[in-house]
Amino acid sequence: MAKYPANLIEFEDWFRTDAECQDYLESIRWPDGFRCPRCGHASGWKTGRSGLWECADCRHQTTVTAGTILDGTRKPLRLWFLAMWLIVSEKNGISAKGLQRQLGFTRYETVWTWLHKLRRAMVRPGRDLLSGAVEIDETYVGGKAEGKRGRGADKKHIVVIAAEEVGKGIGRIRLRRVDDVSQASLLPFIEEVVEPKTVIQTDGWKAYGPLSNLEYTHQVTVISRREELASERLPRVHRVASLLKRRLLGTHQGAVGRTHLDYYLDEFTFRFNRRTSRHRGKLFYRLVQQAMHVDPVTWKTIASGNQGRPE
Ligand SMILES: [Zn+2]
Repeated sequence: MAKYPANLIEFEDWFRTDAECQDYLESIRWPDGFRCPRCGHASGWKTGRSGLWECADCRHQTTVTAGTILDGTRKPLRLWFLAMWLIVSEKNGISAKGLQRQLGFTRYETVWTWLHKLRRAMVRPGRDLLSGAVEIDETYVGGKAEGKRGRGADKKHIVVIAAEEVGKGIGRIRLRRVDDVSQASLLPFIEEVVEPKTVIQTDGWKAYGPLSNLEYTHQVTVISRREELASERLPRVHRVASLLKRRLLGTHQGAVGRTHLDYYLDEFTFRFNRRTSRHRGKLFYRLVQQAMHVDPVTWKTIASGNQGRPE
């Protein structure tokens, strides 16, 4: 049997009830059958219709969503499934407003919280560090004027891009919005997403100077002021930057708030790193799979973190 629905018709056919969604989650979280999250025992039973499982050994009761980002949700799983399907099936992603309309939620805050929970499933912090050879540069998005490092960059957001080199192409990428282009903003991002011993290419910006003291091999590419030369020197980050800008124009008409940009960058990264997946269904499968493998996050955590309030 296929692991994921191939299209919308199949999606609707597979997930008509919450019980069907639950079965699907169980097949993903416990591919070899139920496993007790407390004692590790491999047998248990369902205690009724609510999807509650009981461990045959320690009698611990749990659900398939306990300890995942879907933990404690009061909304039907079908709505979560639909949200995930809508997110992956739109080529440019879906805006919070668009998702709110499609799900019929009255509270915008709910949709915003969902998007931010799912965001954690898209880019799992601390996983899968970039390695080998990586290009890094910053770009400005979300405004009109073009400019590098402050010049004409008012009202724009700064996004730092890391792109893996794979032959002449691009491997995986990581993106992050930063407040400025200082060492204090750029270096922690690099240390969080790039494996030590990696060869890192940047331009001559002084904030990148200490990279060679941080267990990286740092190669500085001196870039001319002319834009076409810049894109030849760090071609991968420039390709990612121009794709990101085009996508933002398509989805948000170019203007995007700070917290939405944070979400959008993770969604963009999720899609980009799986761009060879030809089926929307496969993206859906990956998103569900990763949603089963991240820690739960509450509204309080989201709102109190550095991600700001909903806009
Ligand atoms: Zn147990």
